[in-house]
Amino acid sequence: MTSNKTPPQTFPAKLLANKIRIEPTDDSNEIRELVIEIDHADFQCAAGQSIGVLAPLPQDSDEPFHLRWYSIADIPGKDHHGRPNVTICVRRVVTKHPITGETVRGLASNYLCDLKPGSSLNVAGPKGIAFPIPTDPTATLILIGAGTGIAPFRVFIKTLHRKYPEWKGAIRLFYGSRTGLDTLYRNDPSEDLQQYFDEETFKAFSALSPEPNWADPIAWDLAFSERGNEILSLIEKPNTYIYVAGREEVRKNLDTLFSKLLGSENRWNLMRQDLEKQNRWGELVYG
Ligand SMILES: Cc1cc2nc3c(=O)[nH]c(=O)nc-3n(C[C@H](O)[C@H](O)[C@H](O)COP(=O)(O)OP(=O)(O)OC[C@H]3O[C@@H](n4cnc5c(N)ncnc54)[C@H](O)[C@@H]3O)c2cc1C
Repeated sequence: MTSNKTPPQTFPAKLLANKIRIEPTDDSNEIRELVIEIDHADFQCAAGQSIGVLAPLPQDSDEPFHLRWYSIADIPGKDHHGRPNVTICVRRVVTKHPITGETVRGLASNYLCDLKPGSSLNVAGPKGIAFPIPTDPTATLILIGAGTGIAPFRVFIKTLHRKYPEWKGAIRLFYGSRTGLDTLYRNDPSEDLQQYFDEETFKAFSALSPEPNWADPIAWDLAFSERGNEILSLIEKPNTYIYVAGREEVRKNLDTLFSKLLGSENRWNLMRQDLEKQNRWGELVYG
């Protein structure tokens, strides 16, 4: 077993592309999309899973190694030697030290955001349970992602469309965004998720941030308020699946919101436990 001090098994990789997805209004708002070619033909991963990246340590570091995880953001491709390439979306982490107030730059995210195409790196994994595609093509899918949490749903929706272009069930995507348009994929015509299914099947709702800043809390209650009853009736159907991705606050906000919709925290806890037992709840949540 790998302990916290034992580096994981890694695979040599090469950065193929590194492009900006969201223009920063300041350092910490930048999001970049990276394509990484992994020199290991058997490396396979899917929507809902993440790959690890080992960032080089600064000389004065007391960490044995610095491993951070990034969720798969597109269907992995392969080159003619069978080497897979994996896409990830990385938010550049820049925070203030809680005591000294000094600027702290996240090691892995800044390393990745600054990495030049052609550079070598080491990746680990994949880890995590993929968001399963239900076998029933009439199942309803409620997908909720905030910030970089929208990335796994891009792969999920593309994979779903590839496997079941005639998917009959309702797909409801809720995503948090900086402004209505300035989201990770919505304003990119080649990546607009709306193109994959017809309007009746696929509906996307943006949960706007109350302030025009990527890091601000998302007003999920506004996005849900008009659709509360529709969402509840969908959840109550035995073939509805809910998948959630993004930072921990998303989960916390949703717990509050669903408790409100159902009239009590207890009712929501019981409903979520049922969904989990029936494998109808999936989450990819990180700190
Ligand atoms: C399963 C999984 C999937 C993930 N998927 C993604 C993804 O798709 N895209 C993505 O950008 N990140 C993702 N993350 C988060 C990512 O793994 C790192 O935690 C993040 O990039 C920060 O790492 P770092 O080395 O840059 O910062 P560190 O050097 O670890 O931290 C530096 C400082 O920043 C604070 N900090 C750490 N993370 C954040 C944060 N996200 N926001 C604000 N402050 C922070 C720390 O408390 C610390 O003070 C995922 C995490 C997990 C566990």
